[in-house]
Amino acid sequence: MRAVIIDAPASIRVGSVPDPTPRSNELLIRVEACGICGTDLHIIDGESPLARYPVAPGHEFAGEVVALGRDVAQSNENGETNITVGSRVAVDPNLYCGHCDFCRTGHENLCLYYSALGVTTNGGIAQYVAVPLAAAYMLPDTISLREAALLEPISCAVHAMHILNPRSGDTFLIVGAGTMGLLLLQLALRGGASRVVMIDVNTQRLACAEQLGATRTYGDIQQALADEPLGFNCVIDATGVPAVIENAFMAVKRGGKFMVFGVASHEARISLSPFRIYNDEITIIGSMAILFSFQAALDLLIGGVINTQAMLTAALPLQDFSRALDMMRQGQGIKTQILPNA
Ligand SMILES: [Zn+2]
Ligand SMILES: [Zn+2]
Repeated sequence: MRAVIIDAPASIRVGSVPDPTPRSNELLIRVEACGICGTDLHIIDGESPLARYPVAPGHEFAGEVVALGRDVAQSNENGETNITVGSRVAVDPNLYCGHCDFCRTGHENLCLYYSALGVTTNGGIAQYVAVPLAAAYMLPDTISLREAALLEPISCAVHAMHILNPRSGDTFLIVGAGTMGLLLLQLALRGGASRVVMIDVNTQRLACAEQLGATRTYGDIQQALADEPLGFNCVIDATGVPAVIENAFMAVKRGGKFMVFGVASHEARISLSPFRIYNDEITIIGSMAILFSFQAALDLLIGGVINTQAMLTAALPLQDFSRALDMMRQGQGIKTQILPNA
């Protein structure tokens, strides 16, 4: 099959590799759409401590089942799963060990032996990928495979909202209007936010935020604070840029919550005022990937709660992967996808 292979940081090729063979508990999927995201850039740039090379990237994908491992075929015969050859599925790429302290206490996303398709093992920027049955979610015909490839980022946004746990009427400031910021915007609005202000330097993305219902949009945080001098109940950084995170922290209202959602380099450091955290009773929250939020994301998609059309911009064939990366790095469009079998 054809796949994008990252042999080592900064060494990418589109080449031929052997077709994967599904193990007994796995399905073989023909990938129809796979999103590219900041995590892929971190892997390419050698900034992901989790990545193992060589690897086919891509953890946001959906496609059609083309073969079943032995146990999966047996489960299907026994009526224990309705997933079979021809099923359309999306995949939760996170893989957990199931036996470490965190897995046994309901924190599988913090697994000591955490791995993920497209990060530690081959992912979806390839014509075919083998995935565990437990990771596959059957899709209704009303959901296109390009939309379904958004389920992974939607699940991350849902997990963030589960742990942020905002109150009805809260004001929000979301910094970064890429795919994640725009998904968090939509969930915040549906979850009872009274105002959601979005910040980005990219005017095309701010226009998209306005189309999706943002109360106001600005190019920098100071402008937002001029409108809301006491700050915002919930501030979410969706950039991962240390200087931006420091600025965003200044916009948290007394008694408010600050979520670090964007992925910074693991070597980055920020400077915050401990006095302000104490005196203003600020809660600082991290949000890592997905924790049993994939089904909720699918339900949101089926319910028409997420506007996917506004976010799905370019879709390119496998051989144009480096052009897709350039588009991402230049901030063109919102979610760029690769169609490996186009
Ligand atoms: Zn992603
Ligand atoms: Zn574990």
